[in-house]
Amino acid sequence: MKSLGRRELESHLCQIHGASQVFLALDYDGTLAPIVSKPQEARLSLNSLSLLKKLSKNPKIILCIVTGRSMDSILKLIPLPKILFIANHGFEMKWGKKTWTHPLSKKLKPLYREILKKLKRGLSCFPGIFIENKKATLTVHYRDVSLQQIPYLKKIVHHILSSHLKQIKLTSGKKVFEIRPRTNWDKGKALLKMGRVKNLSRDAFKIYIGDDQTDEDVFRVLKSKSLTVRVGLSKKSYASHYVQSPKEVLDFLNQIIFPVRSFYRDKVT
Ligand SMILES: [Mg+2]
Repeated sequence: MKSLGRRELESHLCQIHGASQVFLALDYDGTLAPIVSKPQEARLSLNSLSLLKKLSKNPKIILCIVTGRSMDSILKLIPLPKILFIANHGFEMKWGKKTWTHPLSKKLKPLYREILKKLKRGLSCFPGIFIENKKATLTVHYRDVSLQQIPYLKKIVHHILSSHLKQIKLTSGKKVFEIRPRTNWDKGKALLKMGRVKNLSRDAFKIYIGDDQTDEDVFRVLKSKSLTVRVGLSKKSYASHYVQSPKEVLDFLNQIIFPVRSFYRDKVT
């Protein structure tokens, strides 16, 4: 994993600007927006939104947001019509007016309601817990739970879900538990599907930036003609490069839109 420093950046920017089509896919939390304790407060600045708007209007760029959030939540945060969306870790997709939900997510809705009730009851003794019904998946957010309580919390969640593990899968992210259908579908497979429905050119240059374990599924499937960037250095990652923070992600995206200005500024300083 290399740092996306100046030399690396310049060589990749040449490939990006020289490509006939660019498939630019970005995670949201921890990548475009810094992680905050209340997910509903992870909003983009007006500058960042305007940058995404410019990228989405560029005829050469296909811009796709890939997130673990629900579709409703991400559409509220990024209300831009030209962008493609992969939500709920790949279990929901939207391109233009077309939408797709993984068939297992539809099938499991009654079970989700049952699990939600059990989790609300079982975790009521933990202040700072937030359980989110994202329709296609469920998430238990525990960022505000004290460190001493976390091992006990994990035990209770495992106990509640233990009788449903044939149908659902429990995974961990940054201070969250994710409950999703037991299948090998993931963000990476959803991104490949989006590439197919959008008739992505074989020569398209692909970029994916993400910060979390679920983003590894995308890094793994993007091989040739691609740039994969993890936010935060990680010893075990399929990403080719890393940056330090969401601010560096936005700097990189700015370089895609305004390359000449940025290079000129670098040369004179
Ligand atoms: Mg993330």
